[in-house]
Amino acid sequence: MVASIQSDLLSQAAAIAGEHWGVDGTPTRLPGENFNVLFDAAVLKISVEPQADPELEDAVTATLADAGLPVAETLPSTNGSTLVPVTFDNYPSTARLLTRLPGTPWGDTDDPNAALPAIGAALAKVHGALAMFEHPHADRTHAWDLAEAQQHRAAIAVVKDGSLGQALEYALHLHAASDVSDCPHGMLHGDFNDENVLLEDGAVSGVLDLGDCLCGAYVQDIAITVAYALQHANASLADAATLIGAYDAIRPLTADEQQALFPLVLARMATSACVAAQRAADGASNATSLQSTSTALLAHVDTAPRDAELLLCALCCVHRGPGVDTAALREARQAQLPAVLSLSYQSPLHIVRGRGQFLYASDGRPYLDLVNNVCHVGHCHPHVVRALATQAQRLNTNTRYLHAAVVEYARRLTDTMPDGLDTCMFVNSGSEANELALRLAQASSGANDVLVIDHAYHGSTANCIAMSPYKFNGHGGGGCPDWVHVVPSPDVYRGEHSGEDVGAAYATEVGRVIGEASSHGRSIAGFFAESLLSCGGQVPLPAGYLESAYAYVRAAGGVCIADEVQVGFGRVGHAMWGFQLHGVVPDIVVLGKPIGNGHPMGAVIITRAIAEAFDGGMEFFSTFGGNPVSAAVGNAVLDVIEDEGLQARARVLGERFCNGLHTLQNTHACIGDVRGNGLFLGIELVEDRGTKEPAAALASQVVNAMCDRGVLLSTDGPLHNVIKIKPPMVLSEADIDMTLRLLDGVLSAHA
Ligand code: PMP
Repeated sequence: MVASIQSDLLSQAAAIAGEHWGVDGTPTRLPGENFNVLFDAAVLKISVEPQADPELEDAVTATLADAGLPVAETLPSTNGSTLVPVTFDNYPSTARLLTRLPGTPWGDTDDPNAALPAIGAALAKVHGALAMFEHPHADRTHAWDLAEAQQHRAAIAVVKDGSLGQALEYALHLHAASDVSDCPHGMLHGDFNDENVLLEDGAVSGVLDLGDCLCGAYVQDIAITVAYALQHANASLADAATLIGAYDAIRPLTADEQQALFPLVLARMATSACVAAQRAADGASNATSLQSTSTALLAHVDTAPRDAELLLCALCCVHRGPGVDTAALREARQAQLPAVLSLSYQSPLHIVRGRGQFLYASDGRPYLDLVNNVCHVGHCHPHVVRALATQAQRLNTNTRYLHAAVVEYARRLTDTMPDGLDTCMFVNSGSEANELALRLAQASSGANDVLVIDHAYHGSTANCIAMSPYKFNGHGGGGCPDWVHVVPSPDVYRGEHSGEDVGAAYATEVGRVIGEASSHGRSIAGFFAESLLSCGGQVPLPAGYLESAYAYVRAAGGVCIADEVQVGFGRVGHAMWGFQLHGVVPDIVVLGKPIGNGHPMGAVIITRAIAEAFDGGMEFFSTFGGNPVSAAVGNAVLDVIEDEGLQARARVLGERFCNGLHTLQNTHACIGDVRGNGLFLGIELVEDRGTKEPAAALASQVVNAMCDRGVLLSTDGPLHNVIKIKPPMVLSEADIDMTLRLLDGVLSAHA
């Protein structure tokens, strides 16, 4: 059946060659995506791919010919045209006849490795020849465009072989985290591979098939060639380095290109494997083999990118600084820093760079950061970094001088708050902000004591530790001080109350605790509550809870403090601030973490009445709080949240994540609960859904296994069994889908 279709197409091709060019003879089909057939002295190319642009191909070919490169000449048809419209296989197509070049395809030569120096040099010459090339169609993309390799990521779901699937995940994750924007760009061949380069007597005798040409980073082209070089029998990274060295001798690679090369090589292998897997799943007629590309991918995917980079660079004679000895660094840290500072993960990471949602370790491996809600708008966001550097160059003083930026910043922050919250005080951390909130609450209420929610953490200063059951009831904690009163965590999954009125039921507990305190002669200055409990186990507050709890507190003469350090600045998706999800207006709002995207800042937003009550004659001053550099950073963070629509993104991405996690919950019995708002989510793991016995060890294993696969998560909660998700808000849908697939695999493996 297939053979007869092929022979029918071959006779159609023979008829076209005869009719338009007067060529006769028996054609043979050549490999490739287009329909190319070989006659004795010529090659007939029939463009059938939707991306085909024969006009662009001919223009590139002519430029290469002018530079003396061995390309085929396009032969005019009997009526003088080079591009002939034809009907082929019932579709309108374009036919061209090219001269046949001498030589053997690189992949068919006896020793493909022997040709690597010639191949590398030829590719550099192609790039040199095309350096000034311009064409109106040159800026295009297609399925094999390495810059767009992410388009194939969804196909990983149809890959049946688990280890190949994992290799593909990692290769495309590596690609997502790599950046070619600073690499030199120009016109690319697009497919400088085994079949498209001919060799004769060890020299390149033909450069074929410009069907995939497009504009891009030169390093993409090099990566494609290296990906093929690594698929040949016995090919090693050293062979790849020979090829790259030959290229580098003609056009030296930049540092950015060296860094991008290896991820792109793997991405090309992954593209071929994904396309093959998808075509096989679709039963497509142009199915390609998965074999050689998947073997090469599996062989090289575990090579740490930095090892590859160093090896390739050493062999290219490109000099690099010595690598960092991570073990020695750990030892030095132990000698200089106290042991109470912990390190995350079984094998601690040595992170040297950050960008967007990614962190990069010293071995070159990128990690998708799903933990860091501080670098809210993405690690090292260029707009924020620029604002910081520009202001640091000009002036950094304190708030005892007039400065427009801090006033503007206060205006912008208070504009996001409900009416009445119109005054800002600036400090340098969440702890300082809560410390100040305590003083403000005491000054405005005239009382001394506070209410906090069980398992809460509010900061590292003496008073904040005293207000943090997470600490004072945890390891090494000294218990609850007499001026602090703990109300139960309104945890709907695990707590005492449930049902429709659960919010009100938990709020009654607030009333009860206030009553008990008052029976001991103590009065409440304020109620500190996060708008979604973070260290307490990623617990969303039940509807009605805050409203009713605030009423009890205010009736007792206290003020209500919303600690938005973890969840503020649009993270919850449906609102800028977590308390807005509950329709309440606090008296004091505490901001930290994401406020400066990593620059140390904190702020307290209050009503005018509270500001006035605090004004007892003593000056308030924070040396660094609200300084011009911090104000510039704060403004820049707000710019990015607005310009990139990050609050709305948090809603969309959070829903995708949450839906995916609920789907996983259907197949993994250990997922007891999935909860959260926007990009602040928790997965509670249990040994048994009935008893809800916490699965803390499993949670830690899952987090470490995900780290090994390039995804950073963490655990928390009173029972240490909640996996937390609170990433920089710039992550992509593909990152989420990858995380869900990897979690599925890891949970299955640990079941
Ligand atoms: N409040 C909450 C809810 C927090 O999570 C934290 C820090 N984890 C703080 C306050 C204290 O912030 P910082 O570490 O910046 O002092």
